[in-house]
Amino acid sequence: MSKNVRIAFLGGLGEIGRNCMAVEQDKKILLIDCGLMFPKAEHGDDVDVIIPDFSWLLERKDRIVGCVATHGHEDHVGALQYLLRDASFPLYGSPLTLGLARNRISEARLTDKTKFIEVKDNDRIKIGPFEVEFIPVTHSVPHAHAIALHTAQGVIVHSGDFKIDLTPVDHRRTDLARLGSLSSNEGIRLLMLDSTNAGERGHAPSESDVGVVLRALFNEHRGKRIITASFASHIHRVQQIADAAIDSGRVVVPLGRSMINNIRLARDLKVLTIPEKSLVSADSLGKYEDEEVCIISTGSQGEAMSALTNLAKGDSRYVKVGENDAVVFSSHAIPGNEHNVNKVIDALLRRGATVVHSGIADVHATGHAQAEDLKTYLNVTEPEWFVPIHGEYRHMVANAELAKIMGVAARNVLLCEDGDVIEVSDGGIDFAGHIPAEFVVPQKAQRGAKKSKQAISKRGKKR
Ligand SMILES: [Zn+2]
Ligand SMILES: [Zn+2]
Repeated sequence: MSKNVRIAFLGGLGEIGRNCMAVEQDKKILLIDCGLMFPKAEHGDDVDVIIPDFSWLLERKDRIVGCVATHGHEDHVGALQYLLRDASFPLYGSPLTLGLARNRISEARLTDKTKFIEVKDNDRIKIGPFEVEFIPVTHSVPHAHAIALHTAQGVIVHSGDFKIDLTPVDHRRTDLARLGSLSSNEGIRLLMLDSTNAGERGHAPSESDVGVVLRALFNEHRGKRIITASFASHIHRVQQIADAAIDSGRVVVPLGRSMINNIRLARDLKVLTIPEKSLVSADSLGKYEDEEVCIISTGSQGEAMSALTNLAKGDSRYVKVGENDAVVFSSHAIPGNEHNVNKVIDALLRRGATVVHSGIADVHATGHAQAEDLKTYLNVTEPEWFVPIHGEYRHMVANAELAKIMGVAARNVLLCEDGDVIEVSDGGIDFAGHIPAEFVVPQKAQRGAKKSKQAISKRGKKR
């Protein structure tokens, strides 16, 4: 009889965000991701972020052997700065993933609570009782990984966030060959698969399609100043915007703290190529004519404190938006943010700017696999057991249906939610209890203050 493996879901199963799970074998715990979630209007104005309930984990914090970060998005690494207040363990991931995670952890002055251990694509390393393999995947941030855990109960695959893009900007494709090899050799005991876009039919479009659209827009708005907004971590989008800008005779001007920081980090790691002479800071904007400038800004989600919202409100020191501006939202509003994005669009239009967004042109491509992509993944991996992860309930249900269509036995598809614990044993996989999994609003960092937390129920009302 082999040792059992338990998996506790701390977040991400029932919502988009705060992805976090704990895998346990031999009384040792490995975390996969530790993310935060951005609140919706119903959670109240005073809530900035929501994190997993760490109470169960902190009771056994001495057993944590490490955290594996699949990629650098905040919904996967953004809660580390809270967990590391009360626990200490090493963090594993690609250099870019760790660079993005490190920003927040060092802001919270907690870098001494962890070790940043860089991994390369297809590395297989020992962490506690687990052999952990980092399988390359394509996503909306470069150098993301799926995780294959070689455990006493066979191979457990965590897909991470991923898409199947045959023409990604950096040519680094989701390594279906390795997944297929795991399937046909060891066999995949359990697959936990990204559900975000399981309800979207067809295939996700390629990121490089967006580059073509961007170039056409730059051509169309030749005489104007161009202002783009995208996620600061979407380095390939930034690359495509910068390429279109430079090729049309413009300099690139990053705006917003995270955009400036991430462009610096990505250039240092050689994940982003922008020649020094083409990169100009906002305080030098006066030296250039409108048609020589492309601003790359944060604020694509209409965030209140962002650079783009500042521009729209007329509060920017550097840029006055007017009729000679074309503003391109190279993004898609995350559900819950539509209202804020629309307010920013209205304000920009009132100033006379032209606004292009994903409703008008294909200026965005999702970073998540859609139904046909997920079927391909299931076809390659042929898991014995299946648990949909990363999504609201309907997304996970849609993903469960895809698994059944692709031949996973219905009784081997488990629909789990936050707080569920499952156990993998020789006999199969079954539910094995619950842990606390409320939405937690972290206390703002205060020196010397007693640490406490506030839980809000998932319906959004304070308890
Ligand atoms: Zn995610
Ligand atoms: Zn992601």
